[in-house]
Amino acid sequence: MEYKTDIEIAREAQKQPIQEIGARLSIPSEHLLPYGHDKAKVGEEFIKSIQGRQNGKLILVTAINPTPAGEGKTTTTVGLGDGLNRIGKKAAICIREASLGPCFGMKGGAAGGGYAQVVPMEEMNLHFTGDFHAITSAHNLLAAMIDNHIYWGNELEIDQRRVVWRRVLDMNDRALRDTVTSLGGVANGFPRQTGFDITVASEVMAILCLATDLEDLQRRLGDIIVAYRRDRTPIYCRDIKADGAMTVLLKDAMQPNLVQTLENNPAFVHGGPFANIAHGCNSVVATTTALKLADYVVTEAGFGADLGAEKFLNIKCRKAGLAPSAVVVVATVRAMKMNGGVAKADLGAENVDAVKAGCPNLGRHIENIKSFGVPVVVAINHFVTDTDAEVQAVKDYVASQGSEAILCQHWAKGSEGTEELATRVAEIADAETSDFAPIYPDDMPLFEKIETIAKGIYRADAVVADQKIRTQLKDWEEAGYGNLPVCMAKTQYSFTTDPTVRGAPTGHSIPVREVRLSAGAGFIVVICGEIMTMPGLPRVPSAEAIGLNDDGQIEGLF
Ligand code: ADP
Ligand code: MG
Repeated sequence: MEYKTDIEIAREAQKQPIQEIGARLSIPSEHLLPYGHDKAKVGEEFIKSIQGRQNGKLILVTAINPTPAGEGKTTTTVGLGDGLNRIGKKAAICIREASLGPCFGMKGGAAGGGYAQVVPMEEMNLHFTGDFHAITSAHNLLAAMIDNHIYWGNELEIDQRRVVWRRVLDMNDRALRDTVTSLGGVANGFPRQTGFDITVASEVMAILCLATDLEDLQRRLGDIIVAYRRDRTPIYCRDIKADGAMTVLLKDAMQPNLVQTLENNPAFVHGGPFANIAHGCNSVVATTTALKLADYVVTEAGFGADLGAEKFLNIKCRKAGLAPSAVVVVATVRAMKMNGGVAKADLGAENVDAVKAGCPNLGRHIENIKSFGVPVVVAINHFVTDTDAEVQAVKDYVASQGSEAILCQHWAKGSEGTEELATRVAEIADAETSDFAPIYPDDMPLFEKIETIAKGIYRADAVVADQKIRTQLKDWEEAGYGNLPVCMAKTQYSFTTDPTVRGAPTGHSIPVREVRLSAGAGFIVVICGEIMTMPGLPRVPSAEAIGLNDDGQIEGLF
């Protein structure tokens, strides 16, 4: 049987005018700032005016460690949001915006898939409402002002070898990873080595996603450390006097975007920080706004639960005062088989034993989420090749762990395929059994925070770090940064730092290679293993297949 592609399904969507979607959430049309007919920003004034309202219930969708087989977190987030609406609940979803890098690199959009998508998917995956362009501009304005400050006499005594603020663009471009700027003579300044990161890796992106309002945004932008003096004292964005103009550039980007699902349910799509060097979830403003407007809000955190959910819970929820009522862990039969040792090419054949062998990876994520005090339910995202026996094996395993797994067919059927999951999630959320708490307190020493995650979540025996790193952490504690959460940067493919180790390993140690202070975002990035802040394109980039057809429609975008 031939299946329609995501873009073919999206093109057939019976979209409603965005004002009607806003009306579902009782957003008056004068507070919707339309971008075309099917996208709008929600006005800042309106957001301020609803702060006194009660919050709806927050549901987080996360997953097992990702495998090349694909898990479908966004697809399930959308499917569950539609499912909740189908059973008569007032529900909204909150997901991230897409970066152009992966769009033109590896196949895979950010709007969900099959019959569980948000639309317009083409625009959401491309320029959308321009937020990422605004973030790129704000970031690069600061970079230009730093070099300009040095050019005109360097009053702040910036050590040109210690400028830590790089430039960004929203593209996978390995040629720009390491560059030399200011070549070409006296008029062009002082040559120095620097480079580009992808926009989603910018601290400005992380800040936009954690800021509660424009005032908080400007304060955080001002707190960014851009360089150091010879005596190692930091120079802040505020010293360069860029924070005001950056806030102006980001004024519209701070307002969350409203779109709709294929089933005309409200979806907020806002922000998109990298899930490795940042916290990997949509903006605090979008989530808190959605919680004021809907009874249930379904959101997604990037990568597997060991990275994405951990940071969602320890960073975003802690900082924004949020507490999820339930967590849905997405698992697939295919990924269980891969965790059980089956190669991608052999996933088509039934293999119940491999499913069983792979299940402990899922089991560990369930245990981990429970350690935050939040109830868990597993969503089995059904692929047409899954057999009944394989699905039953996952259900039996999850039951043996004291949880439940529900089969979901939203990719093929839309909300009809998530009725059971939605009903169960609503029951769990309504029972209010969640007793959420982050797994480490603010005042724990920084190194102990890292150890708590490494031992509690990754099940490592130890954290290995040079004296230099421990001293750096101590110095930051003395400088007043000791109360910040830690933002782990590790491979998403494994509980260890080795991407090839699947399943539920023990006995490993976690080497910390580097620590970075994101003073504006308000976390300390802990880099374990290689970390890429400017991806490259693959041998055959998906851009090669993207183009306009004779009807002027976009082809090849998933
Ligand atoms: P994630 O958010 O975990 O990265 P997505 O939800 O974006 O994953 O899905 C990735 C891709 O997998 C999408 O193109 C989607 O259409 C596809 N996909 C998701 N679920 C299924 C499924 N049940 N059957 C077939 N393809 C699926
Ligand atoms: Mg996703």
